Amino acid sequence: MAADCIFCKIIAGEIPADVVAESEHTIAFRDINPKAPVHVLVVPKVHEPDAAALASAEPAIAAELLAQTRVVASQEGYEDYNLVFNTGAEAGQTVFHAHVHVLAGVDVSKLFLA
Ligand code: AMP
Repeated sequence: MAADCIFCKIIAGEIPADVVAESEHTIAFRDINPKAPVHVLVVPKVHEPDAAALASAEPAIAAELLAQTRVVASQEGYEDYNLVFNTGAEAGQTVFHAHVHVLAGVDVSKLFLA
């Protein structure tokens, strides 16, 4: 657990979150400021600063995190969904504990990749 990390505090149960799924090494909860009909964050329980750091340090947990995105989307009623990994402050990362945004119900790829 990292000091002053909001996601570590959610994982520890110190601050509340709308948890929708959990696996051995991950937890998934709704984003507090949703940008799509489904907007869930899948977060490793171990503290790493971003997803690439997680993949380097804990590749099996990174794979579990990716697999959980399908579990979450499916549970929410979607087979098709987008994943966003903001990596670094200039790319919009605001919480420096690895996480992936699971977005469904709107094709966000059209916003910036089309
Ligand atoms: P990022 O910009 O990729 O670092 O995303 C961090 C996300 O965490 C943002 O979309 C925030 O809305 C979300 N967030 C911040 N605090 C909380 C919280 N307490 N519960 C749920 N989501 C949060």
